[in-house]
Amino acid sequence: MFDRILIANRGEIALRVIRACRELGISTVCVHSTADADGPWLEWADESICIGPGPAADSYLRIDRIISAAECAKADAIHPGYGFLAENAEFATVCRDCEIAFIGPSPEAMALLGDKVSCKRMARKAGTPVFPGTEGEIDDPEEARQVAEEVGYPVIVKASAGGGGRGMRVVENEAGLMDAIESAAQEASAAFGNGSVYIEKYLAKARHFEVQTIGDGQGGAVHLFERDCTSQRRHQKLIEEAPAPNVDRAKRDLVCESAARLIGAANYGGAATVEFLMDEHQDFYMLEVNTRVQVEHPVTEMITGIDIVQEQIRVAAGEPLSVSQDQIKVNGHAIECRINAEDPDRNFMPQAGLIETFDPPGGLGVRVDSHARAGYRIPPNYDSMIGKLIVHAPTRDQAIARMQEALRQFRIGPMKTTIGLHRRMLDRPEFKTANFDIKWVENWLAEQA
Ligand code: ADP
Repeated sequence: MFDRILIANRGEIALRVIRACRELGISTVCVHSTADADGPWLEWADESICIGPGPAADSYLRIDRIISAAECAKADAIHPGYGFLAENAEFATVCRDCEIAFIGPSPEAMALLGDKVSCKRMARKAGTPVFPGTEGEIDDPEEARQVAEEVGYPVIVKASAGGGGRGMRVVENEAGLMDAIESAAQEASAAFGNGSVYIEKYLAKARHFEVQTIGDGQGGAVHLFERDCTSQRRHQKLIEEAPAPNVDRAKRDLVCESAARLIGAANYGGAATVEFLMDEHQDFYMLEVNTRVQVEHPVTEMITGIDIVQEQIRVAAGEPLSVSQDQIKVNGHAIECRINAEDPDRNFMPQAGLIETFDPPGGLGVRVDSHARAGYRIPPNYDSMIGKLIVHAPTRDQAIARMQEALRQFRIGPMKTTIGLHRRMLDRPEFKTANFDIKWVENWLAEQA
């Protein structure tokens, strides 16, 4: 096992990794920017090293500085968290070259699953359900026309290297197809340096369904069942829950097993999420694979009792997974609300500044993963998430009631947060009955405006 892990991240996920390490008897080194010099999580690390100014491009994204810090601090592994360098295959390669373990997949497995076209090819072989559409990149306009015709409009043109919703175009009919391909390719080559695009069926009404998996890096993998993340705004998840409500259990099991097969086939080591859209008939279509731990991993931890970050560390250290598939059981229901310092009444404007009040809730089945506290000044440089509120209860209805009370008791000020919005979302019939699709929050917000 490792002696010392460097955490190349900040905020709640840095704190999450510190907790996992300490429980395993591993010491921690946090790198940070000058904007995060008084980040409360740094107090809990054994050591912290400043690697540059506030802009992430000059600190959290600087591979050279992070590696130097790891060498100075004699860290034998690096945990990248999520975002920043977590899905950067070059970073994983540099770590390997410097003989520092990267807590995540090999650069090869990351590249294979991170590219949407190669991932889709691999998924087909593993029997993971994918969208009908082009086999690979489109290089012939006639072929594009034919494929779009076959799958039926509307279709969506997507970038192979896509991320963050860029390089995507929904096309309603043949007249718009060529323009969409051209503009998506242009946007993708500007954003990712790779202009290849592909076509798939566009689902107008869908739920977001994702499977948590952990691969052992030797061809084996387990799944920890699924999460539903249908409550989103602008492709940003707001509420996540596990297990997914109102889904046929036999279909659910098949798709979870197929996700684990894909991760095993890629010789993937560590935590990965296989994301799907689910249509009204409960048919599943793979969107992409995220090759890192995700923000919403706690809901899966609550229903399975498995510490996903510790499993990541074990696999990276060459140890076997602590559980086998038949030992993994679903217990109860968990919900997570992302608490963002944003003003929902003013187009979700981010709220930086000094937190004067921070009174988190507690009680049975209530978990708060947050780096914030009273007296902490939120820097303007990073994302606006200041914490995650997670509840666990025997049933979904009980979890909703528990979340409502926990939100009611969560006091943060003076800045605006998404707490009030969450209380209203949880009260909506769409959410209560889980009769929803990925547009429901936006439609509801638009009705109120
Ligand atoms: P990115 O990596 O850019 O986030 P994804 O493939 O994960 O791209 O898709 C982002 C979002 O775009 C999805 O969550 C979904 O809302 C929408 N989307 C993507 N593909 C489709 C599709 N075939 N049909 C309907 N919506 C889609």
